[in-house]
Amino acid sequence: MAECIFCRIVEGKIPCARIYEDDEALAFLDIGPLAPGHILLIPKRHFERIWEVPSELLVTLVRKLPRLSRALLEATGAQGLNILQNNGPVSGQAVSHLHLHLIPRTAGDGLGYRWNAGRYGPGEIESVQKRILGAMGED
Ligand code: AMP
Ligand code: ZN
Repeated sequence: MAECIFCRIVEGKIPCARIYEDDEALAFLDIGPLAPGHILLIPKRHFERIWEVPSELLVTLVRKLPRLSRALLEATGAQGLNILQNNGPVSGQAVSHLHLHLIPRTAGDGLGYRWNAGRYGPGEIESVQKRILGAMGED
């Protein structure tokens, strides 16, 4: 994926502020941080969406989160963090190489979602549940 910016970072063709690296994963600072210390964690292999990534590789990535999170909190003095992972343009995914955002949060930082919580109508939650269960298939 020569045209993928994160593949080019993995290949060392574009510089990054590296935080962590092993054979399968790379973590570096987001160049457009929502807060100082905003980290991106990526698999070195190019996958676009979370449902395309082999489970073992996902586990490998998730296992890095506690150490990265602790370091981020300690280094920035943040009081919490959001882990965000966008899938598809409609979700806000701008770079089509799977990545997890680690976004440090401090009180009053002004970040947040427009969390427009809705409500199910009568029987609607059961019908949605049924459709999703029907689509689940085998593990
Ligand atoms: P997303 O909208 O979830 O696809 O997030 C893509 C993120 O990649 C954005 O937060 C960008 O600031 C970040 N980004 C894009 N190019 C680079 C780069 N060369 N180095 C570091 N972060 C980047
Ligand atoms: Zn890529």
